[in-house]
Amino acid sequence: MTKYFNKKMQKFFLFFAHVHFFLYLCAQISANMNIEFAKEGITRARVLIERANHIVITTHMAPDGDAMGSTLALFHWLSEICGKESVQVIVPNAFPAFFNWMPGAENILIYEKEQAKCNALTEEADLFVCTDFNDPKRIGPIGEKLIASSAPKILIDHHLHPMDFADSVFSFPQTSSACEIVYRFIRSMDSGINLPVATCIYTGLMTDTGNFSFNSNSCELYEIIADLLRAGIQKDAIYDAVFNQYSTDRVRLTGYALYRKMRIFPEYHLSLITLSADELDQYHYQVGDTEGLVNMPLQISNVYYSVFMREERPKPGTPKPRIRVSFRSQGDRPVNIWASEVFHGGGHANASGGELFGRLDQAVQLFEKTFPKYIKKEGK
Ligand code: 5GP
Ligand code: MN
Repeated sequence: MTKYFNKKMQKFFLFFAHVHFFLYLCAQISANMNIEFAKEGITRARVLIERANHIVITTHMAPDGDAMGSTLALFHWLSEICGKESVQVIVPNAFPAFFNWMPGAENILIYEKEQAKCNALTEEADLFVCTDFNDPKRIGPIGEKLIASSAPKILIDHHLHPMDFADSVFSFPQTSSACEIVYRFIRSMDSGINLPVATCIYTGLMTDTGNFSFNSNSCELYEIIADLLRAGIQKDAIYDAVFNQYSTDRVRLTGYALYRKMRIFPEYHLSLITLSADELDQYHYQVGDTEGLVNMPLQISNVYYSVFMREERPKPGTPKPRIRVSFRSQGDRPVNIWASEVFHGGGHANASGGELFGRLDQAVQLFEKTFPKYIKKEGK
């Protein structure tokens, strides 16, 4: 009897051990993403860089921390470590003032403000390095210059389905950020990093993961951070510079938006915040003041989807206001299809954006009409 029992127990433990080991392997596979750059890809990019004398680095409209970090890290690497003499970062439009402290930010050209200078530089360029976007449409009018140019292009990005416009593509949608790929790109070239490169890379890792609260499960990410710390980054100071330097108006605008303007649709676990151009004026809105606002309703336990709409006054030549729409979600609840099919945008499954030209109330009507199609009703 005891013998029989022991055998049964042995079998049970063996089975349990196998299941446990399988689960452990699964966890290891998801924690180690195994991002390997093909040798030929790196060799080709190296040749393109070696041959280039006039390099333009560019990124998407409304640059965020990852866009700023990835372009500026490459700027420092190419000029200070690779010794390139003419390297210029051009961004399509203004970036938030809370990135002014970033090393090299003072050298960035903003296309919207200095078109002639930017056009001359893009015409002269013999290499473009593009980061953090998958479609030339995402970089506004520079996109047309980019496509028209015969100069080679390197793309470093983490969005799904990159368009076929670059000669050398490093696209890894499973990574945390474009900055992570820039880091891996530099290291794959057996190259070193300096403090400005490391600081810029850390900024993108931090902002694109919500200070390591999403897309940040890979242990390799923390190995990269350890390397950046060894290079001398002041991690806590970078957090402080980005997240603790807001104006009073910005914080009050956030309070107003959450208190007065947030609507919850409990059956759909959905939140909507809208801010009109008049409301933004009341709080002396500056570029970047609503950055991160769309994530806040997700702090509510039963809210899994959040949408934020911001009205921009019509620009000269465009009769209608532009409604900028941001989408966020948690878990297996994609919002990118909704963003692309209804709001002319797209993005990641859990973080997307789009736009609409029209009145804010029309955008809200469209939202109300379409969310039941794109959001599945769930229990509590
Ligand atoms: P945000 O809400 O922060 O402006 O955008 C979130 C994410 O959505 C971005 O990182 C980007 O991947 C994507 N995204 C934003 N706007 C657009 C857009 O107009 N088109 C596409 N394809 N993606 C967008
Ligand atoms: Mn990014």
